[in-house]
Amino acid sequence: MGVADRGGAALRAVFALALLFGVLGGCGGIWDPGLLAARHPALQRVGVQRLGDATPYLLPARGVLTLFLCRWETPRSIPVELPPDATQSERRLLIRALAAWEDAGLGVQFVPGPAGAAADGGIRIRFGERSDRRAAATAAECAVDPAERTPSQRDRLDARIVSASIALRRSEPDWLGRTVPYSEAQLLGSALHEIGHALGFQGHARRGDTVMVRSVQGVRRAGQQLLETGRFSDATLRALYAVPSGVVVARRALPPGRTRSFDLLAGLAAERGLTGPYVRVGDRAARIGWNRGAQAVYALYVDGLPEVLRRPAHLELIAGPEAADLPEARGGPRVPPGARLACAQSSPGSSSRAWACRASPASVLPSALSTIPSR
Ligand SMILES: [Zn+2]
Repeated sequence: MGVADRGGAALRAVFALALLFGVLGGCGGIWDPGLLAARHPALQRVGVQRLGDATPYLLPARGVLTLFLCRWETPRSIPVELPPDATQSERRLLIRALAAWEDAGLGVQFVPGPAGAAADGGIRIRFGERSDRRAAATAAECAVDPAERTPSQRDRLDARIVSASIALRRSEPDWLGRTVPYSEAQLLGSALHEIGHALGFQGHARRGDTVMVRSVQGVRRAGQQLLETGRFSDATLRALYAVPSGVVVARRALPPGRTRSFDLLAGLAAERGLTGPYVRVGDRAARIGWNRGAQAVYALYVDGLPEVLRRPAHLELIAGPEAADLPEARGGPRVPPGARLACAQSSPGSSSRAWACRASPASVLPSALSTIPSR
């Protein structure tokens, strides 16, 4: 082997190492979009996209953490509840954002309607509180069948998004704390971005030509471009819709006992005829719940989601208030040692029983809060 050959061999070794780190260390080590593209050639045909930046949904069952992607099944008409207090011009912008996604090649259609239109599944859009410091927030709920799959079915769970709720802002505080109304481009960009979360893309693209970036400027630019040119395209969401809903992107064995709470509640839920589990993921936290009708009955929370995705052995399932109070669940679901969980109904009197929970020392959120920071 000559000097040049040795150099080539060394380079190849470095390349092999880089590839290894690409798989194990890149993207925070969560999952490898290259492996998914190898299994699903349709993904390769989408071209440049940032699906690999998506935070996957998670199912911690029978000692294994399964990470998967979830989206609406297509073709599908999705009922959408528009905010009852939207002005004419806000309503026009929201409908424009929905139409832009319809034309983006995903295979989804929206059926906008009045309050109650999305009561049996769909997307509910509201304007949030002005005092809320977050720019906007979306929770998209993925229904999963947790039943054991046969070996040939293991690369896909039976899972789909069944409902989502979006809280939009109309304004944001400026440097002096004064309220500044959103421009049309900001509101339209923000609506495009939050609908992107509602369609199943959780987390944010680190860069690239997608409205799912975290940057406020990037989101506003997408709104501005749609206003000025009528054009909107998003290869990252097209990539999500090019693979089947429920496609598994990673599986990790967990230390013994780590999924006990889930396994116990899944058993109880089956005995009691509850529906679920429904999984939501946000930037920091995830929620796994079971319902009776529209009412939440049991829920488990995962805090420190980015850390758990990097190091699945750190997974702790925290029982929500309902699960913690179940006599059957004693010794099963638990608040981690040293943490306290305080929960309150976020909208008292509401029939949806949405709970806001705060665990100390860590904060635990009851819903997937995917946000664009206001600055
Ligand atoms: Zn976001």
